Amino acid sequence: MRADLVVIGDRVRWSPTVEGTGIIEEVLPRKSVLARAAPPSRPLKEAARYKPAAETLEQQVIVANLDQVLVVFSVHNPTPNPLMLDRYLVACEAVELPMVVVVNKMDLLEEDEERDVLALYRRLGYDVHYTSAVALQGLEGLRAVLRGKLSVLAGPSGVGKSSLLNALWPLLQRKVGEISEARDRGKHTTVVSQLLQPDPDTYVADTPGMRQFRFWDIDPEQLDAFFPEMRPHIGKCRFSPCTHIHEPGCAVMVAVEQGEIDPLRYESYCRMFEHGF
Ligand code: GDP
Ligand code: ZN
Repeated sequence: MRADLVVIGDRVRWSPTVEGTGIIEEVLPRKSVLARAAPPSRPLKEAARYKPAAETLEQQVIVANLDQVLVVFSVHNPTPNPLMLDRYLVACEAVELPMVVVVNKMDLLEEDEERDVLALYRRLGYDVHYTSAVALQGLEGLRAVLRGKLSVLAGPSGVGKSSLLNALWPLLQRKVGEISEARDRGKHTTVVSQLLQPDPDTYVADTPGMRQFRFWDIDPEQLDAFFPEMRPHIGKCRFSPCTHIHEPGCAVMVAVEQGEIDPLRYESYCRMFEHGF
């Protein structure tokens, strides 16, 4: 099974063979796992009609023993996609991984634009950092967040993940992609996952395919619990269980109408509930 393979972040028991090499004897239990769905191994046409069910999808572990996930977005080029951000957040809530939101390319912010991009997430209690890899802004704060931990940088291509790592630790010399190229989904560049160690006690997992990042065995009926602002309303609906989508007397829908829950977040909830993650 793929989940048994050694992945980035794994702690192993090994024995040395000749000098400098060794054999892995055992992968030690993982304290956390970040996984994604492996692509369905059936013809595309069939796959299009194929409704993924948790038990039939194959789990592909990307990183083990993570301390936190940094989800990087940019102010512009590309602009943030709240649904995508919510998917990452729900995934992290589901596996109980701390998560930090990074808003990069702050140098591209126009004067008349609000400075607190994605401020909604700060109100929800998430840590939001504002950076610019070009104008070298917000880097000390970001370095402090990363220090002493094993983190993964997630987020769409072209937002500046490699650039931020280079700005923080110039010796890393991560390859910086062109946006047009990064957006070309048809391109299948084979990228190998790497564990970077920019400081003696700091690790950053650089993994391809974080776009498909999703979590595993979540029951749609539990989805509400992974939206922190919904939690106080759960159990107060007229019906139980309540999907919070069409039932009369739904406390969550009342909270949306009264402005206690942001409509965009509620929309993300509905889309994830109906179409999966
Ligand atoms: P990644 O795909 O997330 O690793 O993004 P890259 O680091 O490859 O950056 C994609 C593009 O965005 C490159 O052309 C970078 O030069 C540019 N870029 C990265 N960070 C910034 C930033 O803070 N400001 C601006 N203006 N451009 C940036
Ligand atoms: Zn409800």
